Amino acid sequence: MALYTTDLLILGSGPAGYTAGIYAVRAGIDTMIVSGNQEGGQLTMTSSIENFPGFEEISGYELMDKMKQQAVKLGVKCVNDHIVEVDFSNRPFVCSSQNGHSYKAKAVIVATGSSARWLGLPSEEKFLGYGVSCCATCDGFFYRGRTVVIVGGGNSAVCEALYLATLANKVILVHRRHQLRADKILQDRLFNNQKIVVEWDSVVEEVLGEEELSKKVTGIKIRNVETDEIKTLDADGVFIAVGHQPNTDIFKGNLVLDAKGYVVTNGDGATTDVEGVFAAGDVKNPKYKQAVISAGSGAMAAMDAIEFLETNR
Ligand SMILES: Cc1cc2nc3c(=O)[nH]c(=O)nc-3n(C[C@H](O)[C@H](O)[C@H](O)COP(=O)(O)OP(=O)(O)OC[C@H]3O[C@@H](n4cnc5c(N)ncnc54)[C@H](O)[C@@H]3O)c2cc1C
Repeated sequence: MALYTTDLLILGSGPAGYTAGIYAVRAGIDTMIVSGNQEGGQLTMTSSIENFPGFEEISGYELMDKMKQQAVKLGVKCVNDHIVEVDFSNRPFVCSSQNGHSYKAKAVIVATGSSARWLGLPSEEKFLGYGVSCCATCDGFFYRGRTVVIVGGGNSAVCEALYLATLANKVILVHRRHQLRADKILQDRLFNNQKIVVEWDSVVEEVLGEEELSKKVTGIKIRNVETDEIKTLDADGVFIAVGHQPNTDIFKGNLVLDAKGYVVTNGDGATTDVEGVFAAGDVKNPKYKQAVISAGSGAMAAMDAIEFLETNR
């Protein structure tokens, strides 16, 4: 059990965390990143990224490894650990980890991201990044002229279905109820779109695919919850849109969170209700969940933290 002290502690090693680290260390700030249990963050779950400027195509793992190497080369200390408790009541702030270590810091950047909710099927996990995705903005482009399935019935699912219909030939929306939860105006657009069909009262039983030649999705098996009828549908991609969960459980009672659990900051900025604690990336952003936006948000948080540390040395 060790006690680590640093000027700036960054919680999370996604695009927001590493970018914050790069900016802070280049300003001469003693900076440490605690990676969390998912080193590299959500992008490590995807095999191909085409929308991060500077990289025509790169795997999520490789992009995140490059960010880490850049941060380490500049002098950021990166620790593999996961924070389980924080005390932001006094400065220096104290964060305690699952390995029994304590981290003391004059300032903290929370960049713990969010986690997509999944269906929990073994076949879904098997084809994650190979046809199964939770992000139409990220991966829709790969399905131009193809058939895709989208699972869900809320605003996100309907918006993603409408977006996918601009690219794909056919979009099959699978919803477990007989009514959508999405706003009426979105539902109208969905029902008027000739490319979109809805499979009502249906749940996904299995994602179907092949692994021998190249690993890819070939369809889904759905079950009608009213009749128990099983149907197999051909599809090239499956998008799961059943919600996201910000990784903020440990901040409850320490930081102001919104109704969905996202960290509340001052508008577009990075300051939280606790002076010296900043937030960046998906953890504070329920809408624009993209790597480039998280990276920009990490830079902003670092700039706010640098200013804070300069006036509170
Ligand atoms: C399958 C998939 C494909 C995607 N494809 C693209 C794409 O092509 N282009 C794109 O721009 N975006 C894409 N995204 C979205 C993108 O991954 C996210 O917007 C981005 O990763 C958010 O970055 P972040 O740094 O805010 O958080 P995250 O990447 O979520 O990282 C959060 C970090 O916090 C850490 N952490 C969590 N809890 C703790 C804790 N208690 N203590 C310490 N650390 C903690 C985690 O270990 C992780 O390192 C995709 C997302 C998914 C899931």
